[in-house]
Amino acid sequence: MKAAFLSIGDEIVGGLTVDTNSGFIAGELRDVGVEPVAGFSVRDDEDEIIRAFRQALEQAELVVSTGGLGPTVDDLTTACVAKLAGREMVLHQPSLAAMEERFRVRGIEMPANNRKQALFPRGAEVIPNPNGTAPGFICPVLTDGGTRHVACLPGVPRETRHMVAATLVPWVAARQPGRRFLSRTFSTVGLAESRIDELLAGAIRPDEARVAFRASFPRMYVRLTVDGAPGERLEARMDELEARVRERLGDAVYAVGDEGLEETVGRLLRERGLTLAVAESCTGGRIGDRITDVPGSSAYFLLGTATYSNDAKAAVLGVSPQTLARHGAVSTETAEEMAAGVRRIAGADVGLSTTGIAGPGGGTEEKPVGTVCIALVWEGGAWSRRYDLGAREREWIKATTAQLALDRLRRWLLNPD
Ligand code: ATP
Ligand code: MG
Repeated sequence: MKAAFLSIGDEIVGGLTVDTNSGFIAGELRDVGVEPVAGFSVRDDEDEIIRAFRQALEQAELVVSTGGLGPTVDDLTTACVAKLAGREMVLHQPSLAAMEERFRVRGIEMPANNRKQALFPRGAEVIPNPNGTAPGFICPVLTDGGTRHVACLPGVPRETRHMVAATLVPWVAARQPGRRFLSRTFSTVGLAESRIDELLAGAIRPDEARVAFRASFPRMYVRLTVDGAPGERLEARMDELEARVRERLGDAVYAVGDEGLEETVGRLLRERGLTLAVAESCTGGRIGDRITDVPGSSAYFLLGTATYSNDAKAAVLGVSPQTLARHGAVSTETAEEMAAGVRRIAGADVGLSTTGIAGPGGGTEEKPVGTVCIALVWEGGAWSRRYDLGAREREWIKATTAQLALDRLRRWLLNPD
């Protein structure tokens, strides 16, 4: 099946929003045997939208659009597709009910113009949107090349991504009855995409599986997809490929599936019955924030501090002023005392800490921007290390430091000394 992509909106054509939807959807659909053949961007204009759909349908059996499903007058996609397909718009009662419910639980009255989002071309298959008001839909269109399909999804990436995985990919897979697909995702840490590519080189032949990389910083995923005839043992083939991936990537693979390091760490802490406290300086609370993103983290997370100043490090965590004076706030010595201090105050099994120079100012010759220290302290033991991450952006340094700290904790939990 050939597919074309259409992103709709003045702000896309005007360059105010970068079209990330098309590339994402193309990647997902490739995993189920779709060949992406073209991409279009078009303004919020009825004639232009219809013309773009027509042109896309000349090249592809499936056209996937994003954007323009909102409640306002500039949201034209549904009406355009109805016109193009020669179908009238009809109210889809379940979508209207879901929309009203969404507003009701928030205690707001539904604006009348939202009703428009429950109108679809007659005969279209509605794609539910659990993360927003606008459902999507798949509509057949009769063309010179026979019946083709248009799939329309909202512009908001978070909403669209979910709908692609939950509905569009299964829809496409189901239209290829002679073929089955199986994907498996591996979450990795500590390796750049190019390095993973290098390590996997030669491990998996192109005819055995499709290998895709997906980065959503600081997360990095590798996904394998195999396909075959119904009745073929795809699971067994995938297990064998997984063994090869693990052999090459080792413990850089922290989970099978799309999972954050904070979830893995949480699971390990729970399994081992251990509690955690975190003392953060340069990460400013980011580790605690990620740890507590996991439901049920109160079972193992006791305390997090954003202890930024020297005084706070001394007064709150009990870091000795001599250590601060002699080695500086950014040192493995200070990091260890921070981790030991937070562990003690919280009465936790493990204390984790970060201290570093996130920049852009504050660097010195000896400790340039990107100098970061991480420490881990537990009953009867301590570990610390200095990293030189380089003079990167502040945001990158903070996120990377949090990721490194969580990974250090994960590795220790797998192998406590
Ligand atoms: P809404 O119901 O929110 O109005 P919509 O389907 O009408 O959704 P748009 O109004 O076109 O979608 O876009 C909503 C937001 O989604 C935009 O402000 C933009 O940030 C983002 N967005 C839209 N299209 C894309 C795209 N192709 N790639 C990435 N982000 C996009
Ligand atoms: Mg809109």
